[in-house]
Amino acid sequence: MVAFGGVLSPKLRSHRWSIDREKELIDIWGREEIYKFTFDLDKPLMAIDTPPPYTSGKWHVGAAAHYAQIDMIARFYRMYGWAVLAPFYADRNGLPVEVLVERTYGINPFEIASTPEGRLKFLEMCRVFLDRVEEELVGIWRRIGCSFEYWRDGTDSPEYRRISQSTFIEMWRRGLIYEAERPVMWCPRCKTTLAEAEIDRVEEDSKLYYLKFRVEEDGREIVIATTRPELLNACEAVVYNPDDGRYEELYKLHAVIPLYGRSVPILKHSYVKPDFGTGLVMVCSYGDVSDVRMFRDLGLKPRIIINPDGTMNEEAGDQLKGLSIGEAKSRIVKILSEEKLIARVEEIRHEVPVCWRCKTPIEYINMKEYFLKQLEFHDELLNLAKELKFYPEEHKGKLIDWINSLTMDWPISKTRFYANEIPLWKCSKCSEILVPEPGKYYRPWIDKPPWDKCPKCNAPQELLKGELKVFDTWFDSSISPLYISGYLRKPEMFSKVFGNILRPQGYDIIRTWYYYTILRVYLLTGKPAFKWSRITGMGLDDKGRAMHKSLGNVVDPEPIVEKYGADAFRYWAAISARLGGDYRWSEKHVKSGALFTTKIWNIARFISSFPEVKEGFKLKPIDEAILTLASEVGIKAIEAYKNLDVYEPINQLYNFTWNIFADHYIEAVKPRAYNTLKKYPEEECRAAWYTLHTVLKIILKLLAPIMPFITDYIWRQMYDPKGIHIQRIDEKEFTYTSSYGKLFLKFMELNSKIWKYKRKNGIRLSEPLDITVYIPEELKPFINDIRDLHRIKDVKISIAETDQLSMGKTDILIIKL
Ligand SMILES: [Zn+2]
Ligand SMILES: [Zn+2]
Repeated sequence: MVAFGGVLSPKLRSHRWSIDREKELIDIWGREEIYKFTFDLDKPLMAIDTPPPYTSGKWHVGAAAHYAQIDMIARFYRMYGWAVLAPFYADRNGLPVEVLVERTYGINPFEIASTPEGRLKFLEMCRVFLDRVEEELVGIWRRIGCSFEYWRDGTDSPEYRRISQSTFIEMWRRGLIYEAERPVMWCPRCKTTLAEAEIDRVEEDSKLYYLKFRVEEDGREIVIATTRPELLNACEAVVYNPDDGRYEELYKLHAVIPLYGRSVPILKHSYVKPDFGTGLVMVCSYGDVSDVRMFRDLGLKPRIIINPDGTMNEEAGDQLKGLSIGEAKSRIVKILSEEKLIARVEEIRHEVPVCWRCKTPIEYINMKEYFLKQLEFHDELLNLAKELKFYPEEHKGKLIDWINSLTMDWPISKTRFYANEIPLWKCSKCSEILVPEPGKYYRPWIDKPPWDKCPKCNAPQELLKGELKVFDTWFDSSISPLYISGYLRKPEMFSKVFGNILRPQGYDIIRTWYYYTILRVYLLTGKPAFKWSRITGMGLDDKGRAMHKSLGNVVDPEPIVEKYGADAFRYWAAISARLGGDYRWSEKHVKSGALFTTKIWNIARFISSFPEVKEGFKLKPIDEAILTLASEVGIKAIEAYKNLDVYEPINQLYNFTWNIFADHYIEAVKPRAYNTLKKYPEEECRAAWYTLHTVLKIILKLLAPIMPFITDYIWRQMYDPKGIHIQRIDEKEFTYTSSYGKLFLKFMELNSKIWKYKRKNGIRLSEPLDITVYIPEELKPFINDIRDLHRIKDVKISIAETDQLSMGKTDILIIKL
């Protein structure tokens, strides 16, 4: 212990904080394993359903910030006394990696994977790629201080796939999954069926062709507008709106298709908009989703003229056969105009549905796929949505709108390769679909069937053919909360963890990851998947645009962290992200974060000069005031953290630390803490030391979830070598209340006025003020602090006559608030 009044030297030796210490701390944390999840039944529990990232490329700063925010919540709840499971594993599935491998090596996956040996080779190429990207991602989150438990079993591990396949088998047996041939949304480039969630809409300039048809019965001409003349021979009816009186007399007559000469019935349907074109439209298989519905409603038989690879087949006629859709359109327009069958052409701008990944316009074609029932659970899902607690609540509307917009069951099968296999075999003799026992990981494209012969018709094993298709990637990722809580693996853990799950994610994937998860988990368990849903906005560039390679605005987090430190990066990640809102990249904010670490270091270093005392002091009003304000900030920060918000805590803490504690309290208390002139009694000095340490500890603890490095380092040096992250944050610590708290704000106002006065009169802030200062009566409790802080010759309490006193005098200053 430093002797009272003796020469003090700071415990924190270095003059400045160095970001190299961040790397040392990462090693220390790894060795200490303080983030390892352990069951503690006495503690409340939270399992974080950390988004398993697609391993398709490096993160930009926005993505890294999202993981940092998740880590802040995990760190807070641990310090708040909860058991927190925060795993990290990768989503190693799906199209993105295949497309990358395809582009990188210039191979066609459909060719190479056409044999089991080739398929194995292709999967291996994907795996190498995934391993490399995963290593990079893990490197980034470790470097920015995320306290996740790293699970090497990603979504492509036999363990994950086994569980996902088991849920498929259960759902199949319960009749929730079926196979059907029906019109689906299809990407001709990716050669895969798309779910509604995988469709984007883009505005496009297009031409509307007015085509001349004839009525078979009386030969009169009718004109029908279409943007898809190449689908002419897929037309199976002409329809108009039942309320459109203009065409009443055509009902049940027939229209003859130009060029092709086939005649089709003229019918009514409420989907037709009377003001589109002429109000008469052709129903083709399939131009858009309303065509699909009209075929169903009108009982029409589809005529498929487009192949899955986006070329025209023989049904399109000799003129178009073999052409791409675009070529077919130009060809048929040319022929129609030569034959004078086009009445006119109109330029229009309309919305086109495109593949979310490659932006190719989608087609509706008939495909045989597996579907998971969802439409029949519409009402149950809406009820379930009511039970889900969203932070912030405003994003729940996106989920409800999505549930209400669904029009088809979810196609869950894909003709792709790097994904979980659909665990089914088919008997080629009796066509029975054979379902294996759950509990194993099956690869039907290469594994021997798990039956010696067909269980139904006794056909030999060679006739049992494994399914070649795989799951849609969301079918796998939608069991993530079940996976992390030990479903089908650790029953005891599952019974405790499930029901205590936090889902953090962006609002952009509410219609996919969020929706599919609540659907799947509800169908499997009958319960809501999540207790808390923390929905964030998007990480955008400094101009508010999404970051894309094509825009050249992607900011790599690594050099930023090397330059400013992880704490500074995390400061930006917290202070730019109002809960639920988008957050913009701002190097300026990262710089402010770096300056804030310097400020924290300087404050702590100053305080580390004084002993931490627990008794033998008498608090002065100003001490009580700052302790009260620190308590208030503490309570506000805890409330915000509990609501999964990090924006409010960092704002509160930054403002308190810098603008209140450092600028006013520390400046005022310095003479008393140092007591160089020995004018203060010991108990008052000790009160200053006690207050300084107490407030610093509050700041460090509450900042620790957001800025875990500098706070931990200081804590280890000054208070406890075991570090800050095993400390408890508890509301009970924040009980200081004193009416002096409010008065402190007046004190700050007064200080600012005196500093302004000094500046105006060319007096340095540290110089004595050789005049009499009159202060408002209410600040009497702080009178000595004011005198010492500003080195004022004489401080007096204002009285009514001060106005007269001030007349013409220059050696007094009267301050009114
Ligand atoms: Zn595509
Ligand atoms: Zn059979």
